[in-house]
This record gives sequence, C-alpha cells and structure tokens, in this order.
Amino acid sequence: MYDFESQIVDIPDYPEPGVIFKDITPLFGNPEALKAMTDALAEHFAGMGITKVVGPEARGFMVGVPVAVALGAGFVPARKPGKLPRETVSQSYELEYGTDSIEIHADAISSKDTVLILDDLVATGGTVEATGKLVRDMGAKLVGYGCILELAFLNPREKLTPSDDDVELFSLVTVD
Ligand code: IMP
Repeated sequence: MYDFESQIVDIPDYPEPGVIFKDITPLFGNPEALKAMTDALAEHFAGMGITKVVGPEARGFMVGVPVAVALGAGFVPARKPGKLPRETVSQSYELEYGTDSIEIHADAISSKDTVLILDDLVATGGTVEATGKLVRDMGAKLVGYGCILELAFLNPREKLTPSDDDVELFSLVTVD
C-alpha cells in the first residue's frame, strides 16, 4: 500500500501544550498521495451499494467528497450547530471536557440510503460514533466507517463496538 504515513506531519504542542497534532494537509497537497488515498478507501468500500458518504466538518469533507465521486455516491456534510441553512437533525456527543453536537439536513438521508462515514482522523471515536447514530436514527443503513489515520491508543474501536459490531472501521494508517 502507498506510504500514507510519510505524508502526515506531527506538530507538537498544537493546538495546546502537550498535544501532538497530526497534520494531514501535506497528503492533500501531493497529487499522487491524494489519488492513492481516494483509490484505497473507494476500493475497500466498493460493491457495498453505498449511496451516500457522510463526512464531519471540516476535514471529513476533504476525504469524503473524492471518495464519494469514486464510489458513484452522493456526499452529505455533518456540521457544527447552526451552520446548515435548512431543517436539521442533531446528535450531541461527549468531549473530554463538555459536549459538542453535529447536524445533518433532515432531508439529506432516508431509509433508502446505504451510508459510509469518512473522516480524516479517528481519535476517541466520538465524532464518527455520533455521526453513525444520526445516520441510523434517520433510518439509513450504515455499512462502514473509514479514515486516513486512527489513533488506536485512544481505543476508538472499543467505543464503536457496543453499537457497531456489524460496522467496520477501516483506517489507512494506525498509530499504536
Ligand atoms: P474524536 O471524536 O476524538 O475521534 O476526534 C476526531 C475528530 O477530531 C476528527 O473530526 C478530526 O478531524 C479531529 N482531530 C482530532 N485530533 C486531530 C489531529 O491530530 N489532527 C487532525 N484532526 C484531529
């Protein structure tokens, strides 16, 4: 497989002291890496009848749109509260300190849809789990989660497993 890890830069103490931020923008700036990322995710989820890719704001848009095109699916943005202009459905989730929530246009997904959720990075799994709940509450069939980078040491799979034992998380790079 393509060496995606070489395209991700560690930024120490960003956005605050003690945090190592994974900067995936070099991967998107490299045409070869961008195509390899799109192909690898699309190939993995091909043949599952996916009709919609859902991507959380904002880097989930960057991953989700090219993969949706490659799969012949549509793309639906999951956004922070108050950003979408029409009627929305919303799901809150816990952060390390406090809560956050995400919203999807109420008419963007229906029971006819088969959905893949894509984001750039899965850390605790809170963001994709909340997005998955929303998609299921809207009556759609959720068939997978995918990302470029999984911070496995934060155990996102443990968080996803209780409700999602039938739904796989596929990551191009895993950090143990
Ligand atoms: P989680 O909800 O804890 O899994 O965090 C994942 C979300 O936070 C994703 O939407 C990521 O875009 C964002 N995120 C967390 N840490 C990083 C990072 O180091 N680099 C880029 N995005 C990050």
